[in-house]
Amino acid sequence: MFKKIAVASGKGGTGKTFVATNLAVSLSRQHIKTRLLDCDVEAPNSNLFIHAEWTNSEPVNILVPQVDQDKCNLCGNCHKVCEFNAIGVFGSSVLVFNELCHGCGGCRLACPENAIREVDYPTGVCHYGFAKDLNIVSGELNIGEAKAPPVIAAVKKHIAADEIAIIDAPPGTSCPVVETVRDVDYVILVTEPTPFGYNDLKLSVNLLRKLEKRFGVIINRSTLGDDRVEEFCLEHEIDILAKIPYSRTIAQAYATGKLVIEMDEFKNTFTDIYQAIETRI
Ligand code: SF4
Ligand code: SF4
Repeated sequence: MFKKIAVASGKGGTGKTFVATNLAVSLSRQHIKTRLLDCDVEAPNSNLFIHAEWTNSEPVNILVPQVDQDKCNLCGNCHKVCEFNAIGVFGSSVLVFNELCHGCGGCRLACPENAIREVDYPTGVCHYGFAKDLNIVSGELNIGEAKAPPVIAAVKKHIAADEIAIIDAPPGTSCPVVETVRDVDYVILVTEPTPFGYNDLKLSVNLLRKLEKRFGVIINRSTLGDDRVEEFCLEHEIDILAKIPYSRTIAQAYATGKLVIEMDEFKNTFTDIYQAIETRI
């Protein structure tokens, strides 16, 4: 049965993309149909390791209001209903701030003069490619835009029923992460044994428990730092899927856009991680 697995982390820089890319390619090498979806749309960098040529790209639009100033009576109802201060009466006209708009359509419904219609506004791009026997879809938020969830949703529309989806999630615990993980079967939380890693892990665990998600932890650079992350996992009965020690080889591979599964030393690491997950989902 095909599954959706998200790779998340409480903070950036813990090795989330390292895990997602190596895991996805190791599955595809075992002739398991796999798709890597990069939902870290503010900084999508999975393809730095996959090196796919993009075969297609399409814009991601949201609907934003456009006001017919001739019909508008400046009543201000649109501003009152907007939770995001994205529309308002300024002097003798109504202005819309597209970058703040969430495309909810509330202002159009609230307008007594039928002065508002909705128009497409580009907020990001979806890229598609294929390399290393792997399909890859990557979302990219346009520069200056703040709303990642519509782009994430557009990427996730390309999850295929007959492929394993490995989803590189945004870091943190805010809306983009919730949008990414809300319907997945399993979440891999990548952390590191440092005070920051420990604090952010606690926040991520709290979120995933609220969302009632199954998850396990990979402790990356496990030979650095202290034992608090491991003790926290043991105390809270959280599965530790793997501990990946700090290694110059990995650091060099990462810095030069290489996958570590190309190396004998790590060629089974991600297969073992997948097998550990398979027994849990
Ligand atoms: S569509 Fe929603 S978010 Fe956008 S301006 Fe109207 S009320 Fe505000
Ligand atoms: S609700 Fe409609 S009529 Fe009222 S200020 Fe907004 S656009 Fe104008």
